[in-house]
This record gives sequence, C-alpha cells and structure tokens, in this order.
Amino acid sequence: MAIKKIGILTSGGDGPGMNAAIRSVVRCSLSNGLEVDGIIRGYQGLIDDEVVPLNHRSVSNIINRGGTILKTARSKEFMTEEGQKRAVATLKKHAIDALVVVGGDGSYRGAQVLFEKYHVPVIGMPGTIDNDLFGTDQTIGCHTAVNTALESIDKIRDTAHSMERIFVIEVMGRNSGYIALEVALGAGAEDVIIPERKFNYDQLCQNIVQGNKMGKISWMIVTAEGAAKAPDVASTISKMTGLETRFVVLGHVQRGGTPVGDDRILATRLGARAVKLIKQGDFGKAVGIWEDEINVIDLPKACKRENKNVDEYLELIKLLR
Ligand code: ATP
Repeated sequence: MAIKKIGILTSGGDGPGMNAAIRSVVRCSLSNGLEVDGIIRGYQGLIDDEVVPLNHRSVSNIINRGGTILKTARSKEFMTEEGQKRAVATLKKHAIDALVVVGGDGSYRGAQVLFEKYHVPVIGMPGTIDNDLFGTDQTIGCHTAVNTALESIDKIRDTAHSMERIFVIEVMGRNSGYIALEVALGAGAEDVIIPERKFNYDQLCQNIVQGNKMGKISWMIVTAEGAAKAPDVASTISKMTGLETRFVVLGHVQRGGTPVGDDRILATRLGARAVKLIKQGDFGKAVGIWEDEINVIDLPKACKRENKNVDEYLELIKLLR
C-alpha cells in the first residue's frame, strides 16, 4: 500500500524534545511528499477524533520549546477494545495510512496493539524522561530532565551545606531509577533510593550517624518517586537518628523547560529515520540511538530495559560519600 498521509501523536508523560521530534517528522514527511495530521492528546485524541492537519509552518519556532504542541495524555479508554476500535475508526476517517507514536514503554505497548491487532502501520519514537527503553542508549527528554533536576539540587546543596542539614530529594521515576541515579551522581549526593534495588534504612541511618560523628555536616539523599516518597523517608530518618531532616519533592519542574541540545538533535535524527522507515514500508518498529548510530528494532523488544549502569552508579555514590 502506498502511504500518502501519516499521523503523529505524543503520548504518556511529556518530555522536553517532543516538539523537536514533531518538527522533524512533519518536515521530513512533507519533503518526501507525504501529508501529515497531528493527533491532539495522544491515544485519547485518537478516540475523540481530535485531528489537525500540520504543515511546514505549524512546526515553526518549536524546536526549542519544552512540552508538546500536540499535548499528551494517559488514556484508560485506549486500554479497552472499544476505545481501540474508535481510535482505528478515526485513522480511517482521516485517511491516515501510518502512525508515528512518540512516547515511553506504555505508549509503545499501545502502538504494538494497533500494529498487531488492527494492522495499523506504526513506528515508535522514544519520548520519555525515564530512559528505560531497550534498543536506545538515550530517550528524547532524558538529558534535559537530568539537567533540570541538577539545577534545582545544586540550590538545595547550597542550603543543605549552610544549614548543616539532611535533605531528601524526590525526583521522577515510577519504575525507573535512571533520573535518580544520574542526579545523585551529578549532584554529589550521599545516597540514592531506586525502584530497581531493595533499600535498607538501618544501613542508611548508620551511615548518617557515623558521618555526623566524623564532622560531615550535610547529607543528601535522592529518591525516585516509585521507590520511596521523600516525606516518608525524611520522617523515618528523623525518627531513627534524632537528626533534623528536610525533604523536597521536585515534581513537574523536571519535565519542563527548554530542551538541551542533545535532546533536540536526538529527536531530529530519529524523526528523520521514522519517516524513512515509513517510506520503505517497514512498520512495527522502534527507532533509537545505539553507539551514536541509528538503531531500528521491533516494538515489543523496545518496551523494557533494565538500566545497566545501576551497580556501577551505586558503587560510585558509596565510594564518593
Ligand atoms: P512515560 O515513560 O513518560 O510514563 P509512557 O508511554 O510509558 O510514558 P503510559 O502512561 O505508561 O506512559 O502509557 C501511555 C498510554 O499508552 C496509556 O495511557 C495507554 O493509553 C496506552 N497504553 C499503555 N499500555 C498499553 C497496553 N498494554 N495496551 C494498550 N494501550 C496501552
């Protein structure tokens, strides 16, 4: 089947660089003689028929903007067969021949359902701050999220040091400790709590008390939201050590802001490859970057990756304490 028109949507949590991805896909498609429709609010917009045509100008001046002009959503309805059928009907109605999905592992699973069950030609692009997809060294948004979190943590470090306090800082990561590990290492934190590893309060408190006796005046612990909530960690430490412990939840600031160069460039390169795959009629694939070369793998394989640096990072954090 000759592809005439493609659709693009962003799905799951938004990440800085998604706009650069949209721009790249739109402009590369137009340059290749393909029309492009944008779907607003991810899979939910596909169900609700929120579709807008995109042209060269629609994506002007967005390469440096955070968020996503197409908006994004987590759609429970799309998890049902009825929702999926409505989504497919919208694609048919607008004569969209192929779909590019920019998102994380959940979005990839949704794309795989469209591909396998409804024979929709799909391509996945890795848009998530969690960097937890297989087949790609980096995902679009992860570089910016780490830098943004580091900027905030540097400010907390100043006050932690001046006030001689223990600080617990919660960063994003429901199932992935990627951001927590990166920022713990980059910010020089003393400890990190991640979903991938069991955590021992006795050991942590022992370390803090011992450090305190040796004149260590501040202690920073980074926790991933999915592993432990900062207020709980702080109150447990206070109770167990008798030392004053403060907490900060960084929250959504980590998703916002201008994408750094790495995220823009990655998004742009991957967008171009996504369009190339569409032109070749090679579907059900995810694009990624592997040792600086573009990598293409089957969608189901891309859905999950264990961070291979976990033990190295944990060891380093301990060593540098
Ligand atoms: P992030 O990494 O930022 O959390 P994500 O893509 O993993 O992004 P999810 O909320 O897990 O975010 O998934 C996005 C959407 O994909 C879901 O709201 C749902 O509509 C769809 N989706 C997820 N898993 C499935 C599945 N197994 N079948 C069909 N659709 C799914």
